[in-house]
Amino acid sequence: MLKRLYNYINPFAHLGDTRYSLLFPFVITMLASILLEIYSNNIVHDPNAVGLFAIFIFITLIIYFSFREGLRGGLIATTITICYYFYIIYSRHYTGEQLSSGIDTTIILGILYVILASVIGILKQTIDKLIEKEADERKRLETIIQQLPVGVLITDEKGKIMRENKQVEIILGTKFPADYTFGKDSLLKGMRDGKEVSPSQSPIAHVLSTGRPITNKEILVLRKDGKKSHIQVSASVVRNNSGKVIAAAEIITDITEQKQLEQRKDDFVNMASHELKTPITSMKLYIDLLMRLIKQHNDDKSVKMLVSIKEQTERLQKLVSDLLDVSRLQTGKLTYSKERFNITELVHETAEGLEGTTKQQKITIIGKAQVYVYGDKFRIYQVITNLITNAVKYSPEKADIIINIKKDEEKVIISVQDYGLGVSKSEQKRIFERLYQVDDDKEKTFPGFGMGLYISKEIIKRHKGNIWVESEKGKGSIFSFTLPLFK
Ligand code: ADP
Repeated sequence: MLKRLYNYINPFAHLGDTRYSLLFPFVITMLASILLEIYSNNIVHDPNAVGLFAIFIFITLIIYFSFREGLRGGLIATTITICYYFYIIYSRHYTGEQLSSGIDTTIILGILYVILASVIGILKQTIDKLIEKEADERKRLETIIQQLPVGVLITDEKGKIMRENKQVEIILGTKFPADYTFGKDSLLKGMRDGKEVSPSQSPIAHVLSTGRPITNKEILVLRKDGKKSHIQVSASVVRNNSGKVIAAAEIITDITEQKQLEQRKDDFVNMASHELKTPITSMKLYIDLLMRLIKQHNDDKSVKMLVSIKEQTERLQKLVSDLLDVSRLQTGKLTYSKERFNITELVHETAEGLEGTTKQQKITIIGKAQVYVYGDKFRIYQVITNLITNAVKYSPEKADIIINIKKDEEKVIISVQDYGLGVSKSEQKRIFERLYQVDDDKEKTFPGFGMGLYISKEIIKRHKGNIWVESEKGKGSIFSFTLPLFK
């Protein structure tokens, strides 16, 4: 109650409020005049007692009302004041000199009051308009943020929430309290693909602690209602002109449906490749059998045809096994049976085995050191095969292929170099993604599905190694991978 009264009287509480009252200044200035009359006539019994005293009170009232109610409020207070001054002059029955100097003073005071009320009143109304405009802008921005189809979270530099829209609540299934702060406990600790996090674990805490942005990170959130949401988040700190962090912002997109669709697609591919594998294997067996029979009859034409059929079947078999591997990688079901083996030997064996498949390219192996590693021999063989077949596939007929085996204290580095098409800088990271192929008309003519490098990368990752490419478009590429030495 007292607070409301205080706010009502406090002229500063009305800044930005453009509803100006005319009644309030009218009533109060009238009341002040009446009280002054009562004071001089009935209390001190001296009609001249109001003089200077009145000037002070009315100036205060005019300033107050100009500031509180704008131009019109100030002018109403001024008008009543001047009328009251004239009333004093006439009710005190001044004559002669006293009357004319009274009238002159009142006119001069009146002009000054009007100027005062106008300056303060116009100033106040201008400030109100500015405040109103800014409030409108803010409201508009707020409406836009609220209605965006993605979740938006904005915090101050300490991680305290400043803004959050409805989508955040819909997607995460939680509404953060108004003064919620993303502190150190909100970090996405040990975050791995497919690991669930709670809605309060946010990339905002990360970007605030590192200063580096996070883009399109996929996170699996376990909501309070028990449902799981796949979300994609991007977050970044916001800096002022001098580079100081002043806020952090996060955008959240719900990709649960997309993920479910992908899952269904993966399930389908998995099932289809399983179903395809068995008939292809028996087809190959029958082809071999048939080939043996036909060879006995020296029917060269049929043998040629069968060789073609066999090649195509092998390609089909490779495709199906790649599909199965990708699907197993997706579901984390690719198993590794590790052993100690000589990788130098494996590289030689693999290269020899592939010699028949090259166009006219010669494969040279540099590096004789016998190096032992611990891993899944078949999977590593798969990686080497993939790099060599790619080198063969993406380079011209007579360009050589060089395989280099190097080792240092900790690891072996195997690189496969070709003098072929090369990969542009922008594509170099992406070619290791699932189903990614360089979008180039020239390369469209090469068969493939963009699975090989993805599978290789995952295999090497699981062996605690690295795989990368150095290349220049048109000049060739060097694909390298490392594996820790067996100790
Ligand atoms: P695929 O060869 O079946 O398309 P990969 O995953 O093995 O799939 O390779 C992905 C893409 O990377 C290829 O489509 C090709 O554009 C590019 N690439 C791979 N190896 C080379 C290479 N040695 N030279 C040029 N481009 C290559």
